[in-house]
Amino acid sequence: MKKVVKFGGSSLADAGQFKKVGDIIRADEDRVYVVPSAPGKRFDGDTKVTDMLLELFRMADEGESIDGQLAAIKARYDEIIQGLELDISLDDEFAEIERVMKNEPARDYAASRGEYLNGKIMAKYLGFEFIDPFEVIFFNDEGYLNSYKTDKVLSAKLAQTPRAVVPGFYGQGKDGKVKTFSRGGSDITGSIVASAARVDIYENWTDVSGFLVADPRIVKDPAAIHTITYRELRELSYMGATVLHEDAIFPVRSRGIPINIRNTNKPEDEGTWIVESTATKPKYTITGVAGKKGFCAVLIAKALMNSEIGFGRKVLQAFEENDISFEHMPSGIDTMTVVVHESEFIHKEQRVVSAIHRLSQPDTVEIESDLALVAVVGRGMKSVQGTAARIFSALAHARVNIRMIDQGSSELNIIIGVANEDFETAIRAIYDIFVTAQL
Ligand code: ASP
Repeated sequence: MKKVVKFGGSSLADAGQFKKVGDIIRADEDRVYVVPSAPGKRFDGDTKVTDMLLELFRMADEGESIDGQLAAIKARYDEIIQGLELDISLDDEFAEIERVMKNEPARDYAASRGEYLNGKIMAKYLGFEFIDPFEVIFFNDEGYLNSYKTDKVLSAKLAQTPRAVVPGFYGQGKDGKVKTFSRGGSDITGSIVASAARVDIYENWTDVSGFLVADPRIVKDPAAIHTITYRELRELSYMGATVLHEDAIFPVRSRGIPINIRNTNKPEDEGTWIVESTATKPKYTITGVAGKKGFCAVLIAKALMNSEIGFGRKVLQAFEENDISFEHMPSGIDTMTVVVHESEFIHKEQRVVSAIHRLSQPDTVEIESDLALVAVVGRGMKSVQGTAARIFSALAHARVNIRMIDQGSSELNIIIGVANEDFETAIRAIYDIFVTAQL
């Protein structure tokens, strides 16, 4: 059995955290490939090294002196090196960073150095080989991962390297320069390495014990999710649940490799398993409940809409012409509703309304604002009767007015529109009926 282990920034924020990580890796021989992030915050109000590097780039780009900022960044690493009592110096690496930043400063290059330097320290600390992702992870012309080339080069490299550290977050752009993923992208690197090495498990170590059924800022001490499928996770993360970068599931998913989210500060917790498919019954009918505020609904009514061919297309064209993507589209017999992000829509609303009139000649167009969407997600829902009824009665008891309902065709989720101000109450009511009531 082989595992890839990825550690997030808070797991590597200082020497004390590094030691915990070292213990975790040494506790299991199967943990052969390590993907570190850059050092994160050591305490509330601290600055992540990646943010310090981005500031370094800004200073260099605007012609300010970078010496103080570079020294502050170096101090973060020196503190780790000394705390671990390692015989290693990053002087040469910092001289090179200084040279590049003073001559040809580049944003992605600067941002990527956080992972690069941490990887150097980690490799020394563990006695593993260091693999620079610049040599093995490639992007295409459009700036997306070139998965074919990456898989070929990386898997060949890993096949000759029994134990290695591969820093997260970056690779090589088509122009031969360093390129990073979007923020939080070390999760994607972990997934790419796991897929290329054909390992059995991708462990993603962070500072929480996995996914929770609901947002802890809304529900007090919510239950943890033991097992979640990729599809459920996709629905929940789209709706605002964040622990893992959204794009991190794709490389492992195609190879059927499960992701195990673990807590560096509580390694005894089993965490959450993210899997392709499972026979394990979820503990509760719902796997999770999440949501987002700030939507608008555009309600379009036209008598005999149901028999007019092409009506929906014409309505959607009005949104497309104005460069607005829609989130949901529940429809009735003579009505259809298009739900959009308020922030994208509000400046263009009158243009969209007139385009709808011009293209589809509806009877009326109404706009409702301040809408929040709540997604109730669970593979268990389709085999349990009365799930929708329980949701609606819980909301009725909590005096939340339901303004829209949309059941995804997968039967995996039910999306409910409520007023922004009812958002938290709705999440709590749904959590309580499915989880608290069963404890
Ligand atoms: N260090 C990068 C960031 O802060 C990438 C990561 O941590 O995954 O976004």
